[in-house]
Amino acid sequence: MTAPPAAPGHAGPGFWLLLLGALWLAGCTDAPEPDTDRLTFYAFGTIVDVTLYPAGVHDLLRIESELGADLEAMHDLWHAWEPGPLVRTNDLLAAGEAFSAPPSILTLVERAQELDALTGGLFNPALGRLVAAWGFHQNEAAGPPPTPATLAALLEDPPRMADIEREGTRLRGRHPELQLDFGGLAKGLAIARSLERLAELGVEHAIVNAGGDLMTMGRPAHRAWRIGIRDPRAAQVLASVELGSGEALFTSGDYERGYEWEGERMHHVIDPRSGRPARGLTSATVLHDDPVLADAAATTLMIAGPDAWPRYARRLGAELALVTLPDGTVELTPAIASRVEFQREVTSRIRTAEAAGAGLTR
Ligand code: ADP
Ligand code: MG
Repeated sequence: MTAPPAAPGHAGPGFWLLLLGALWLAGCTDAPEPDTDRLTFYAFGTIVDVTLYPAGVHDLLRIESELGADLEAMHDLWHAWEPGPLVRTNDLLAAGEAFSAPPSILTLVERAQELDALTGGLFNPALGRLVAAWGFHQNEAAGPPPTPATLAALLEDPPRMADIEREGTRLRGRHPELQLDFGGLAKGLAIARSLERLAELGVEHAIVNAGGDLMTMGRPAHRAWRIGIRDPRAAQVLASVELGSGEALFTSGDYERGYEWEGERMHHVIDPRSGRPARGLTSATVLHDDPVLADAAATTLMIAGPDAWPRYARRLGAELALVTLPDGTVELTPAIASRVEFQREVTSRIRTAEAAGAGLTR
């Protein structure tokens, strides 16, 4: 693979590829630029990679210790099964009495309620029990999958985010099976908070990349941040996209967390309609200036599947979206099509919310 020529208006040779999926393009042209500094952390079960521009001007030791502490705190606050504020909140919600919620949880409850309502419950962080039943509430995801009887019971009267009453900072659970799991949106909030902290520490240009989900702040002089979108079926870059300042790119994929069970891949994005891992798309990527929306929308499009994803993208205001199908075809919204550069031959088509399908574009 060779680097494409620099886009007009971008002076430097600068071709950047931060490969989604914490995977670097060994052997390709795209080593990190020498004019950046990098710090690496571990949080949310993944590597968090921070790129700072320009090199040599930041207090790296201080950033490492302060951002490291923040990431650790957020990890603890929003963890779905390790004992902490969220697990305590879930116990209190199940008890059905009003209680004063930790502020860090309130923001996520509010956003989750909006997103559940907007997606008609396809994106529903109240379904922690269902996610746990599939073996995802442990460090190493593992089977067995729930039995048909367990699944039927879980799907009989599933909780929704609207089953949480909110009055100021007080919450009250209205469904005994409600269990919050913010795995589909908390990374978005964590990345936003990390960039805020970096700004407080004097950083103007940075990317925070948590296992392939990332957001930019500022941009290097004379070039854009160029990001690779991972091919869900191969350790290579499918496409690249240039990001300006304050843009988030999030991907949800069937290759992320999961296990094989009787020849079938069981991954952690669960379709509330079937109660099973979502089928039909191999990945969904959303570019947006709101990282929480980008995170949740990517997960929602995976669940919506090959037919409905453009309608859900529209509904969520995720106008810049791209999905991949099991046969390798890429489908894109019109708005992202002009920003994406494919890195190999692919069959792609533009999809709009109005039309079910459309002709090939390349
Ligand atoms: P990743 O965290 O790998 O980027 P996603 O953003 O797609 O992946 O989030 C997957 C996580 O979202 C799951 O681990 C689970 O915590 C949560 N989740 C799974 N199904 C749903 C759903 N239908 N609605 C909301 N959250 C979900
Ligand atoms: Mg997500």
